Amino acid sequence: MARSISFEPSRTLQEFRLLPGLTDPRTSFEQISLKTNLSNDNNLSINVPIIAAAMQAVSGSKLALSLSREGGLAAIYCSQSPEDQASMVKAVKENLLQPPATSLHEFPHQISKASAAINTHDYTTRVPLLIAAGVDLLVIDSSDGHSYYQRKTIEWIKAHFPNTPVVAGNIITEEAFFYLAESGANAIKIGMGNGSICITQEQKGTGRGQATALMEVVHAREIFYKETGKYVPLISDGGITSDKDIIIALALGADAVMMGRYFARTDESPTDKVIINNKCYKPYWGEGSTKAQEWRKARYRQSLFEEGVEGFVECVGSLHQVLPVTLAKIRSAMSTAGAQTIREFQENSRLELMSPPAQQEGKVHSIYQNNP
Ligand code: IMP
Repeated sequence: MARSISFEPSRTLQEFRLLPGLTDPRTSFEQISLKTNLSNDNNLSINVPIIAAAMQAVSGSKLALSLSREGGLAAIYCSQSPEDQASMVKAVKENLLQPPATSLHEFPHQISKASAAINTHDYTTRVPLLIAAGVDLLVIDSSDGHSYYQRKTIEWIKAHFPNTPVVAGNIITEEAFFYLAESGANAIKIGMGNGSICITQEQKGTGRGQATALMEVVHAREIFYKETGKYVPLISDGGITSDKDIIIALALGADAVMMGRYFARTDESPTDKVIINNKCYKPYWGEGSTKAQEWRKARYRQSLFEEGVEGFVECVGSLHQVLPVTLAKIRSAMSTAGAQTIREFQENSRLELMSPPAQQEGKVHSIYQNNP
């Protein structure tokens, strides 16, 4: 018999809506702060709660630079040689640190930080190169972070580079949260089987609805905070289908969201545009797809099955155009909920599960629409 069998269905972010709270001068749109902390020692914060996924089709140096200019961070992908990855980090840091007087005026939220993904195999060679290149945040990239190998990786980094925060994950249970938090993780990513290119649930039968995963881990985080005084930031990773999903993830207790598809569509992602049926697309593929795993062949055993697919996403233009719209929606929702900061938003939000007809009611209905 299994240790536990739950008959309560998993919930997705899309099933919840936010109820309004009191909006007053303190929580008007202009007063909202999107600043968020990414380390339990308060050593690293970003100005907007948005992180780009550690993926070949997403987080190259161009996107990382553009997102840092907007106040977020991109985890430069580790499915490449440590040397190539370190030179990407170096390029981003050099660009951010040379004072471009115009840039601070143009990008008031800019942070001069770079982040890079690592794995649990080659960290003893990769991490020193990344640190030498100026990396500020290390992100362990794994679909299953509830693992002894993550603990070993965190311990090694803490022993050799104690000042560099480490994000661990991904996890979806409270048991895994306590394991990683006790291992010294500075922040933790939540999500398994929910990414747009992900076939983990279909291939292995493992995974969980993102809202359910978040609620359970947030609960564990609050217990850990009360017991130890250490607040471990949580990053909701994958499955963001629209801007409102980001808002629900933050309201449920996430401190930031990580997205792949969202950024793969922008001009700044590392892929070339392709025209299909007169429409502009960019290629997007999972890190667990055969395409992404090609580089590994020389180093590690090739996986016998895929956990990700290859596809295309529709072009949306520059990140500098789309991200401000997304951020405006987050600010507006926080103002509606009566929260000035992300922590207030997490603590005071009131959320409600929507029945399928209630969700239907929330969409345009019963009219003939111009340009649907
Ligand atoms: P998206 O924003 O829904 O496209 O999801 C991006 C997230 O999916 C990443 O941050 C990873 O956590 C996850 N991911 C990336 N590649 C794969 C894969 O090949 N299989 C399963 N999950 C993946």
